Amino acid sequence: MPSMAANNFSRNTHQNQTKGDFVSRKQKIEQQRKNLPIAAVERRLVEEVRNNDTLIIVGETGSGKTTQLPQYLFKWGFCRDGGIIGITQPRRVAAITVAKRVAEECGIPLGQKVGYAIRFEDVTSGQTKIKYMTDGLLLREALLDPYLSKYSVIIVDEAHERTIHTDVLLGLLKNVQKARSKSINGVVNTDHNSSNNGHALEERIDNQNDGILKSCQVKKYNPLKLIIMSASLDARVFSEYFGGAKAVHVQGRQFPVDIFYTHKPETDCIDAALITIFQIHLEEGPGDVLVFLTGQEEIESVERLIHERLRQLPECSRKLLTFPIFSSLPSEKQMRVFMPSPAGHRKVILATNIAETSVTIPGIRYVVDPGLVKARTYDPKMGVDSLIIVTTSKAQALQRSGRAGRDGPGKCYRLYQESFFEKLTDSTLPEIKRCDLSNVVLQLKALGIDDVINFDFIEKPDRTAVVNSLWSLYLLGAVTEDNKLSDVGRQMARLPLDPVYSKALIVASQFGCLKEMLICVAMLSVESIFYAPREKLEESRNALKSFASPEGDHLTLLNVYRAADEFFQKNKMVHSEEKAEKNLRKWCKDNYINSRSLKHARDIHSQIVRNVEQMGLRVTSCEDDTLLLRRCLAASFFLKAAMKQPDGAYRVTLSGLIVQIHPSSVLFRAKPECIVFNELVHTNHSYVRNVSRIDYLWLVELAPHLYAVQD
Ligand code: ADP
Ligand code: MG
Repeated sequence: MPSMAANNFSRNTHQNQTKGDFVSRKQKIEQQRKNLPIAAVERRLVEEVRNNDTLIIVGETGSGKTTQLPQYLFKWGFCRDGGIIGITQPRRVAAITVAKRVAEECGIPLGQKVGYAIRFEDVTSGQTKIKYMTDGLLLREALLDPYLSKYSVIIVDEAHERTIHTDVLLGLLKNVQKARSKSINGVVNTDHNSSNNGHALEERIDNQNDGILKSCQVKKYNPLKLIIMSASLDARVFSEYFGGAKAVHVQGRQFPVDIFYTHKPETDCIDAALITIFQIHLEEGPGDVLVFLTGQEEIESVERLIHERLRQLPECSRKLLTFPIFSSLPSEKQMRVFMPSPAGHRKVILATNIAETSVTIPGIRYVVDPGLVKARTYDPKMGVDSLIIVTTSKAQALQRSGRAGRDGPGKCYRLYQESFFEKLTDSTLPEIKRCDLSNVVLQLKALGIDDVINFDFIEKPDRTAVVNSLWSLYLLGAVTEDNKLSDVGRQMARLPLDPVYSKALIVASQFGCLKEMLICVAMLSVESIFYAPREKLEESRNALKSFASPEGDHLTLLNVYRAADEFFQKNKMVHSEEKAEKNLRKWCKDNYINSRSLKHARDIHSQIVRNVEQMGLRVTSCEDDTLLLRRCLAASFFLKAAMKQPDGAYRVTLSGLIVQIHPSSVLFRAKPECIVFNELVHTNHSYVRNVSRIDYLWLVELAPHLYAVQD
């Protein structure tokens, strides 16, 4: 049977790799590398980096910037002085997959010369010379090493994405570069023309090194090469920001892409996407399909529906393989999207906007673009961040369609009308303009940059957003009345968590329930722990009942974690670790728990346990004292408390916003008088998630600066 033959074929190439296969794969990779557009300008690029301390490189997605440039720089001696090359990515998936690819291209195991580091995961070693990481991680490194002294080159990749971390990083790197070159020239802190913040960092560095800089004899830093890479053609904004830095363009290879629009607006975009995928599959020539979806849930349901429909097709039309890619997917599964499809089969890649510019998947000829993306937005009234689904910008739509024209002429199906495209905004608003800044403000303050409003941002955040975040940091006790970082704030900044969660850990150590809070925070830091497929809603609800606590979602999450851990530990006593992990996955499945999310939570847990131990916090348990734990939740999450109204809705005490308890909460029906919550989601209503029952009087007692006894 043809499909059997194809299956065998795929097993041979990927699992039983013989020596012969390996050699040919190596040669193939060599050939691919040589054919990349960037390979033609290797020498020129290296020269430009040598001649310019700051360089902007603009190049079409897929031209080889991310995978090749660091290898060129290594080859041409940019690590000779012992420094390493750091490359930042806005997304974890990109950091991981690219590092793996580059290690493979170099023919070495990951974690040696080439490695990656993301929050809660470090795959580097003392030998690592090319280090891929998230932009947020490099920001955290700056807290410990303000000169970023181990780097000789830092490449800020995907700068056009303008994530909040990229924007802050650009400002910071500008200062670091200035400070490092001053350390060489022996000039100290006399440059009165430099911005306030330039001074702030230099002064902090001076203080930290006990005037080492001032004498300038003991420690000198090598200059820092800074490279900003972007896929958008407009390099001006970066060039201007870096005092007229040179910008070079790498010519890409782009075949024409035919764009198709729908005749009428689509109401059900999942259904429209499915129909389009099958139209392509049944009517179009060879080539893989890339579908842009908004997140894990949507991807999983489209994947399921594709398989359902495939079963209804005749055997010969079933040669369609699906590959999801999104950030919380385990990394071995992420890598599968790059494997070539077995002969006669078509691949459908179901991706979040990670595939827009961050990772390039070869073989794509068709793009299906519903025109939507999940984006962070900030509600200044509520003072909370939320993720909502919004329409893409024109620039994003163009990038997406471009993905169809890398290997040959392609087609892009936009699941909206042409008139709708015309109405899209030209480009996406930088994240710094639309998200909660408290984390960034806390980090900048921890870096010694007190005057956040006047920090030399590439684009200034709104003043009210900064003021709001200062206010919430003040309420959390992280900054003092005169806007300085407090001792608690300094501790909070050391934790790789949202300020509210960092604070919760510190509060819990005082309450004597840090052990429980570490679990809560780890569980709250991952996407949906519960797995509730539409067709098995009843079963999944029943499964949840065995963990549900009448006190709320926090205790429920704690129950799940404890039950899973107990199951795992018991298994480990009789089985190997591997087998125990496997059994745990089965246990998750039986209990309608998302095993990936749970695994992620367990990883986060072990990292933050290490963090708090390093900070000297005592990890004690309150055992079964749930009252104490809920009081601790009230003392930690008092910024998000709500009271029941006569009509059963809730009024958020600080903002006055009217919200409902989300149907997924264990308190959905119980509707207690007073609650604290962690998350606000907007769909057709405003819902709160991760909710716990508390007593209003606890707020009066534990957060007296905000709450008073009500009449
Ligand atoms: P750019 O950064 O300019 O967008 P990249 O360096 O990411 O380009 O990609 C260069 C080429 O390497 C692309 O053609 C892409 O298909 C290929 N590539 C990248 N990652 C992988 C991978 N994990 N497996 C196979 N090919 C890859
Ligand atoms: Mg890239």
